[in-house]
Amino acid sequence: MMEAQYYTKLDDNKVQCTLCPHDCVIKEGRSGICKVRANDKGRLITENYGKISGYHFDPIEKKPLYHFYPGKDILSIGSVGCNLHCQFCQNHEIAQTDVHNYPYLKELSPGEIVNAALRQENNIGIAYTYNEPLVFYEFMKDTALNAKQNGLKNVMVTNGFIKPEPLKSLVSFIDAFSVDLKAFTDDFYRKITSSNLNPVLESLKTIKKSGRFLEVTNLVIPTLNDDKKKFEELVLWIRNELGKDTVLHISRYHPMYKMNIKSTDQDTLFSLFEIANKYLDFVYLGNLHSGKGQNTYCPNCGKMVIERSGYSTETKGIDKAGGCIYCKTKVIEHYLV
Ligand code: SF4
Repeated sequence: MMEAQYYTKLDDNKVQCTLCPHDCVIKEGRSGICKVRANDKGRLITENYGKISGYHFDPIEKKPLYHFYPGKDILSIGSVGCNLHCQFCQNHEIAQTDVHNYPYLKELSPGEIVNAALRQENNIGIAYTYNEPLVFYEFMKDTALNAKQNGLKNVMVTNGFIKPEPLKSLVSFIDAFSVDLKAFTDDFYRKITSSNLNPVLESLKTIKKSGRFLEVTNLVIPTLNDDKKKFEELVLWIRNELGKDTVLHISRYHPMYKMNIKSTDQDTLFSLFEIANKYLDFVYLGNLHSGKGQNTYCPNCGKMVIERSGYSTETKGIDKAGGCIYCKTKVIEHYLV
């Protein structure tokens, strides 16, 4: 069994995991809050190393990443476990379980995943996603370093609830991050996700400062995080701390897992979309079938440069350098024809 990184040995064969802000102290034979990092005879081990629950070539827009190689595919992999326990978890069958209770895991090595990614046409790399990739940190790192050596891109879809030291290491081999900013109150984070807001905000700032590519997603749940004033504060924080050009996805919630509040109505999303557009250059709507909030408009001349319909992406207004074909303003930093 693979030994984990980021932990300290304590008395009585206990260990303390220091990968995420939970800082779990784990007794021999037990696992941490994420259910997949366990104490095996006084050593912290990563139980889900190479145990894959999902493996698909997805459009990169599905992560969601709208400004990182638009129109390309990405090999997306996940395992089991999560360091958060969101009551609305959209992937709870794999995220809220462990290797002993999920019978559909497939064993794959980093090399096998990289080879599969290299073989597929239109594929730009590997996305670590589906469950929280932080909790398979060592497998993600081994795969990402191999992928990087082979010219592939690495993408992490994460809740951002990570300690500063492992995050500093992550930004050296992950090219793009899709981070969920679930709400802008600590109360929401504590009661609904069993975590805290501040470490997530710090992670977002660290990723931005590192120069790695970043997009942010906010899932809007009626009555819990749809307050317009609070949402405006969240958007202003993004503008002031991460920049006006940060991509924000406002996503529609549907009842899932332990939460039975009814789905977010479209009018709420449309009014939050208007608020975000006052402060940010690139705002999108997700999980909606209306077609609104899908296309990219040049922030300088206002012309439509990328048209999206479902997961079909037409980059007809973008030149080879990622600029607007009408006024030459740079719109997409990472682009391949
Ligand atoms: S990664 Fe898992 S074991 Fe480690 S501190 Fe976080 S929840 Fe606890």
